[in-house]
Amino acid sequence: MNKVAIIGAGVSGLSMANYLEKNNIDYHLYERRKKDDLKGHGFILPKEGIEYLSQIIDINELYERGSFLKKYIHYNHTGEIISEKELEDVFVVSRSSLIEILAKNIPADKITYEKTLNLQGFSQGKAEIEFDDRSVLDADVIVASDGSRSRIRRNIFEDEIMKAVLENEVVNIIENEELAGQIESNFLKFHHEDGGLTFGVLKLSPTKILWYCQFDITRFFINEDYTPDCIRQFMLDHFGNWNPLVSSIIEGSSYENAHIWRVYELEKLNPFHHNNVVFIGDSAHPLIPFTSQGVTSALKDSYILTNLLMEEENIRNAFIKYENERKPEIETHIKNGRTLLDQFLLPLDQQPKNTLPISYK
Ligand SMILES: Cc1cc2nc3c(=O)[nH]c(=O)nc-3n(C[C@H](O)[C@H](O)[C@H](O)COP(=O)(O)OP(=O)(O)OC[C@H]3O[C@@H](n4cnc5c(N)ncnc54)[C@H](O)[C@@H]3O)c2cc1C
Repeated sequence: MNKVAIIGAGVSGLSMANYLEKNNIDYHLYERRKKDDLKGHGFILPKEGIEYLSQIIDINELYERGSFLKKYIHYNHTGEIISEKELEDVFVVSRSSLIEILAKNIPADKITYEKTLNLQGFSQGKAEIEFDDRSVLDADVIVASDGSRSRIRRNIFEDEIMKAVLENEVVNIIENEELAGQIESNFLKFHHEDGGLTFGVLKLSPTKILWYCQFDITRFFINEDYTPDCIRQFMLDHFGNWNPLVSSIIEGSSYENAHIWRVYELEKLNPFHHNNVVFIGDSAHPLIPFTSQGVTSALKDSYILTNLLMEEENIRNAFIKYENERKPEIETHIKNGRTLLDQFLLPLDQQPKNTLPISYK
């Protein structure tokens, strides 16, 4: 089998490594961050995501580190219930927990941290990839899993257009046992009556909650310093007078680990492969937050690509089949995401009721 190099150890790169490991295919994974630098947010995973994960990890370990959501309750910003919906197998887990679990199965000699790789060009159809110290990577297949701002992708598809999405998010994970108990297994989402502003909260574990806000960037501005104080001030300015549950969470939160998600999308998807380079996860297809499909799509990419690499003798055929299989579904999520975005921007009384913040294919 060919020598596979995976660039980027987020969910997509790590899941790819897990599938290759499981199928005894040789690979090496390179990641620019430090091993323990696991800052970040949390993921909502639909049932399908859990099914793919259960093929490569001990699913009970995941269940211990996150929680299932039972009901979606939709409120206006003053706290009146607008609609309720039962949820089936929707799971929430912190990014750091999922990354840790996925990294566990990768032998230490197959993953190298603190290595940033750069594409220099192509020679005889093969990518020339260099490390920061200018040494050269030797691999037959390059799996680019370097995220939505993928440098490798931008180097190859120089004309691509990345557009700012009209919605951005603040995401925060805080310790609060009392609140976690109060929320139980519900996913609470509050919408401002004028549209373009929401606040969601869910329980991550018996002691932790995840909250996030979504805001229309044409109406609400956050100071670009992104310091904890700036984020706190932004939240107090726009959510401080919402119903008591929201305002008490905003006031009682630490902002040290709050994360700003500046959302971008590709105006048009690129091919998912070029010569011996293939893209998976966000590097192939950045998805906007409303879809809640980023992780599940990354897992499916890895699963399908691994199977095709095993089945097909010719790598190019494997890549073509991979793109043919994955692109239509991704295009559906992109379309659904844009519909959900348009609805979010409308005043609340013009939004459809009972719409889950998840794109289903
Ligand atoms: C705030 C926030 C909330 C989200 N919520 C959800 C959700 O609820 N549900 C959901 O399904 N999805 C969610 N997503 C999307 C989800 O995070 C991604 O779709 C998913 O994690 C797949 O990411 P990835 O592995 O492709 O890319 P990333 O997670 O971006 O990983 C890329 C990795 O590549 C490394 N890297 C980059 N460049 C290089 C290089 N040159 N050399 C070496 N390494 C490199 C980076 O350090 C990083 O570790 C959310 C995203 C954000 C930002």
